[in-house]
Amino acid sequence: MQVGFYGHVRQYHNVKDEIDKNIFQVLESGSYVMGPMLSKFEEKLAKYADTKYAIGVGNGTDAIWLSLLALGIGKGDEVIIPANTFFATAEAIWIVGAKAVLVDCDPKTKCIDPNALEAAITDKTKAVIPVHLYGHTADMKTIAEIAKRHDLKLVEDNAQSIDGHGNGFRQAELSDAMTISFIIQKNLGCFGDGGAVVTNSPTVDKEVRRLRNHGSLKRNVHTFGFNSRLDDLQAGVLSVKIDYITKWTDLRRSWAKKYSEGLADCTTIELPYEATGVRHVYHLYVVETVDASKRDSLLNYLQGEGIDAKTHYSIPIHTQDGYPWGKDAEIRGSLNNVEKNASSCVSLPMFPELTDKEADYVIEKVKEWDLKNK
Ligand SMILES: *Cc1c(COP(=O)(O)O)cnc(C)c1O
Repeated sequence: MQVGFYGHVRQYHNVKDEIDKNIFQVLESGSYVMGPMLSKFEEKLAKYADTKYAIGVGNGTDAIWLSLLALGIGKGDEVIIPANTFFATAEAIWIVGAKAVLVDCDPKTKCIDPNALEAAITDKTKAVIPVHLYGHTADMKTIAEIAKRHDLKLVEDNAQSIDGHGNGFRQAELSDAMTISFIIQKNLGCFGDGGAVVTNSPTVDKEVRRLRNHGSLKRNVHTFGFNSRLDDLQAGVLSVKIDYITKWTDLRRSWAKKYSEGLADCTTIELPYEATGVRHVYHLYVVETVDASKRDSLLNYLQGEGIDAKTHYSIPIHTQDGYPWGKDAEIRGSLNNVEKNASSCVSLPMFPELTDKEADYVIEKVKEWDLKNK
């Protein structure tokens, strides 16, 4: 049996009529860039995120660096991030000319460790970007307190956890800006690249709107900016899909529950953790082999049995070849938890459109490997 890692086409078929309708509506309208479909989606997204503003941009990476620019972060500034994130979080900092400071993650949630964060702050630190990794919202309450105490800007990289929430707080509630990626493999995915910034700050809203469109808020009037817009076709796709995101998250959570119950007796692997009160959206369902030296064995076993398991992220930023490529970057404190995770992680297939048969097969094969390796 083959079990894929994504269900993109299945998802398209489930909502095909609505998506096709919106796509044809855009095509017939003649408005493909900065048109009414983009405005409609931005309104929907702001309402959904419960923020005052939402701005569609070209992709999730642009969403981060445009937010940093809007908050005045640049050369000479330090921005703290967890070392275990998708590479783009660091890239966004380098794009604005700032220094990426890499710190450790919490051993359970895999999100930035607030103690490591606070210990890494210097006079030059201007911002922190917690990442809601794998779908688990970071400890924003603690992080926001630290940011306030040290007068730091706070940008949530929420490429992976849309529809999640923390314990007693909403995403985007405690930060200056929250960034989202809509690339197809994310939980709310369009048919290509896309991203957004959501915020309650009128300054961030205005600045990102200006920067994404050649520095222009008014026709023919320009201050320096860039070109990073979410196009109307993608906005049309997302306008449909956003109405399903809660249902799709609930499905992801039910598959995660099935995996966790099915694998509860495995002693050679650790299962994902969900802190009390947190809505984990299982962008990824990541297990760790207790013995890191056996990770590749589990990965190869599953792949050999037709299961498209992957790793996220087995090569953290600071261990990429040639790091830091002449860019400004620094590790502060130990990265023990990041390194342990990198060497032991395996992501199992996780998407809303999984079937019971597929999930049962994944469980059966992981259990088989566990038995052989006890
Ligand atoms: C996907 C991702 C991004 C980048 O989003 P793109 O749309 O691919 O530019 C940034 N941060 C994290 C944590 C991501 O997973």
